[in-house]
Amino acid sequence: MDRDSLKRHLEFYRDLGIAQLNIPAGPPAVAKPAQPTITPPARTVTPVPAPAPAAPPRPAPILMPTLLPVAPPDDTLQRISADIGDCRRCRLCEKRNKIVFGSGNQQARLVFVGEGPGADEDETGLPFVGRAGQLLTQMINGTAAKEGLAIRREDVYICNVVKCRPPENRTPLPDEMEICGQFLFRQLLTIRPKAICVLGGTAAKALLGTREGITKLRGNWQNWHDIQVMPTYHPSFLLRPYSQNAKRESWEDLKMVLHYAFD
Ligand code: URA
Repeated sequence: MDRDSLKRHLEFYRDLGIAQLNIPAGPPAVAKPAQPTITPPARTVTPVPAPAPAAPPRPAPILMPTLLPVAPPDDTLQRISADIGDCRRCRLCEKRNKIVFGSGNQQARLVFVGEGPGADEDETGLPFVGRAGQLLTQMINGTAAKEGLAIRREDVYICNVVKCRPPENRTPLPDEMEICGQFLFRQLLTIRPKAICVLGGTAAKALLGTREGITKLRGNWQNWHDIQVMPTYHPSFLLRPYSQNAKRESWEDLKMVLHYAFD
């Protein structure tokens, strides 16, 4: 990476609230989008310099799809939320009412990751509270009860790739996912659940960097930073008529992930 690219990377992370990076010693790892790896830090370098007060406004950062997740040491959900602040880092801030950070058990063994808030979530500031959310709640509570697991929605953590509602519920754009994805990565690295269930193709792509569709991915364990990841269908898809088969498959996926996380 040349000097300018490195500088842009560091500025990008600094804008996300990361003041210090842990760079592994030795030759740089080749970034693999499908399964990014971070080795434990061997040495601590580079407090990112504060911006010069009189500097002209910088152009929007050039975003690279292979950015690694970076979390400051001793990160907490509170700190991540504070770093998000009244976020203006991408265009999604323009139409949002509330930032939807995430909710649930902060030490959850299982985290669900959706795509982005819808209208109800934007209104309340809470993830998955609309129709899709009600279905997700039923799926978690119902499947756990049937499987003899004393687990309810409150016992898991739920969040999204992007924290602000995309207009008309459109799919988040790559740069929106790239920016907000860093906060998602920090949430996941902080909670360090035993398993993550990604809901739908967008969340699967954000986490796994794969182009594979959700139909192929679902039901097959993946790995993200030594955390087991189960991709399954998004509950909004399951609300559509004629998704009977997908519903059955989703229930199977959920059973698998609940047992893995809570047995
Ligand atoms: N769909 C999502 O992906 N997330 C929500 O929070 C609600 C609906």
